[in-house]
Amino acid sequence: MIIVMKKGAGREQLAEVKKRIRDLGYKPHVIHGETRDVVGAVGDERGKAVLQSLESLPGVENVVPILKSYKLASLEVKPERSVVEIAPGVSVGGDDFTVMAGPCSVEDEEQIMETARAVKAAGATVLRGGAFKPRTSPYAFQGMEEEGLKLLAAAREDTGLPIVSEVVKPRDVELVARYADVMQVGARNMQNFALLKLLGQLGKPVLLKRGMAGSIQEFLMCAEYILAEGNQKVILCERGIRTFETATRNTLDISAVPVLREQTHLPVIIDPSHSTGHASLVPSMCYAAAAAGADGLIVEVHPHPEEAASDGPQSLRPEDFAAMMQKLREFAAVAGKKL
Ligand code: PEP
Ligand code: MN
Repeated sequence: MIIVMKKGAGREQLAEVKKRIRDLGYKPHVIHGETRDVVGAVGDERGKAVLQSLESLPGVENVVPILKSYKLASLEVKPERSVVEIAPGVSVGGDDFTVMAGPCSVEDEEQIMETARAVKAAGATVLRGGAFKPRTSPYAFQGMEEEGLKLLAAAREDTGLPIVSEVVKPRDVELVARYADVMQVGARNMQNFALLKLLGQLGKPVLLKRGMAGSIQEFLMCAEYILAEGNQKVILCERGIRTFETATRNTLDISAVPVLREQTHLPVIIDPSHSTGHASLVPSMCYAAAAAGADGLIVEVHPHPEEAASDGPQSLRPEDFAAMMQKLREFAAVAGKKL
């Protein structure tokens, strides 16, 4: 249910509404709007009609059911677009077009430093790098783990770029959170509800990737798991879905951007690397993302793709990334975004 407060309702009235929601066994989530506050009351769907009684409280305008099955992620609860701050001066959403770039996996100090400096010089504002890798084969490189996170932190120290890195299992949340500015949930883990709940409690920004077989409805329900725990800092990432097509690694669902815009206030970015699987296809999908209204990108870049421990064929060389960024500026500007 959404409890819509009257314009100018006082702090005590809001506190009373929150208390009553809790007394009825639901969780209040306050969203401060420009003209009025609304309180989302979420919890057991059965018996939510009891919340209707809040309508008689002072300061309450009305109580309306949330029609969507995802509640806090919906535009019904929060019509204003969310902006997720990653570090001072670096946000996703709003007017910015935010580019995250770096290698698929952190491999050694030279590789991550060289890549970090190159992507920064080209205009990226967030460094990506996997230290825990969810690989299809158990015999493939699984990542440098904490050593990799330390190298990422050193690259952040050197360049000032905040870092995004994947956490694969609940047991590693605390460790990854010690180093990363943004916690990445990979496509294979979109519906790892135990992991999502922990990240909801952690409160750090989360980059949630769409599962390769996940519908948009399911994707938003996964975001809801994080929001329902009290963490509003969720960035959605479309990274391609599995179709019959084999010319690309996955099929980039570019229409997910406008669809999500119609359904949620959460920012949306595109991963052109995992969706195409081929470096030559990456730049055009970067431009398409900007044109479709995305809030940014996460792109794989490697100084020597032919030697990469993972995802070399889809990684841009630093010079190709820089050339892409030049042209991307024009697309972002037409879309009304700053890059
Ligand atoms: C990655 O970002 O390197 C990755 C494993 O992506 P995805 O989860 O989208 O496959
Ligand atoms: Mn990768």
